[in-house]
Amino acid sequence: MKSEILRLLKESDGYLSGQQLCSHFLVSRTAVWKVMEQLKKEGYEIEAVRNKGYRLVDSPDVMSRAEIESLAKGRWAGARVVYYEETDSTNTRAKEAADKGGGQGEHGTLFVAERQTAGKGRRGRGWESPAGASIYMTLLLRPDFLPIKAPGLTLLMAVAVAKGIRKCTGLACKIKWPNDVVINGKKVCGILTEMSAEIGYINHVVIGVGINVNQERFPKEIQDRAVSLKQELLHSVRRSELIAAVMEEFEVCYEIFLKTEDLSGIKEQYNRLLVNQDQDVKVLEPGNEYEAHALGINDTGELMVRMKDGRERCVYAGEVSVRGVYGYV
Ligand code: ATP
Repeated sequence: MKSEILRLLKESDGYLSGQQLCSHFLVSRTAVWKVMEQLKKEGYEIEAVRNKGYRLVDSPDVMSRAEIESLAKGRWAGARVVYYEETDSTNTRAKEAADKGGGQGEHGTLFVAERQTAGKGRRGRGWESPAGASIYMTLLLRPDFLPIKAPGLTLLMAVAVAKGIRKCTGLACKIKWPNDVVINGKKVCGILTEMSAEIGYINHVVIGVGINVNQERFPKEIQDRAVSLKQELLHSVRRSELIAAVMEEFEVCYEIFLKTEDLSGIKEQYNRLLVNQDQDVKVLEPGNEYEAHALGINDTGELMVRMKDGRERCVYAGEVSVRGVYGYV
């Protein structure tokens, strides 16, 4: 009921009458009043006027299940939210729920945390996850396609994040192939996709997304390559609104992906956003490092590069990192 009341408050231009809310939810006036009090405690500014009802004056940067669900607007991606004040990693929570089954293990559940104690990057690396300023979320999917197609989902999410940020803030982000979103050469978002599969069959896929939203500084080790939206904009961004925007964009990308079960319908958008497009890059494979010219992704999401000797080659994301010749991008 809380998510629903919040949604009605947001959608209403004027006052919402207490009596109408009571009849809508078949509850007492006291029950409605209690929800309003809870919302106020969470930071919402709600005005209550006798004979008129309730009006939402301001919603701050609240991260909660009710806030995120109230913005979901009937979509499947993120329509059900599992929220943690603190957890080790939202990817771990999502995988656990998927293995367990039940409501939280369904396609489209979004796991969100205010703080992660063991945020993960690719290949065992960490993701800096303090409280109060960032988005740490994992979308659980149960796709019907073959496991070999799943790596494409990381690229879809990168497009969704870049477009979601653009929509909410106007900032033009780029994608560093395959899984990072960058602004002016610094990383604002990392994406980690994990899968549980058998030969020819996907049990589930979890796509973890960490977005630096309102941080004012970063630890020394990453400050030369990490950036937040606030550092770029010089003002804060409402995290729940950004989550909703990313989920909305992801749904659109996912529907396009499902038509062909590859990236052919997204490739052009991705390549337009690709920071490495038509750039010289350094490809770091385990035990092999070389420079090449990046040509963009193909239908399966591999990065096509032209080697110094003119031969073209596909770089597969699994074990590889791509850097700019002189720096991170
Ligand atoms: P690759 O090019 O292989 O993706 P990467 O170094 O960007 O390399 P990821 O696994 O995508 O690797 O992300 C993990 C790395 O990101 C960490 O090793 C750290 O350098 C950096 N990092 C950790 N936390 C943050 C953060 N909050 N913001 C930006 N960068 C971070």
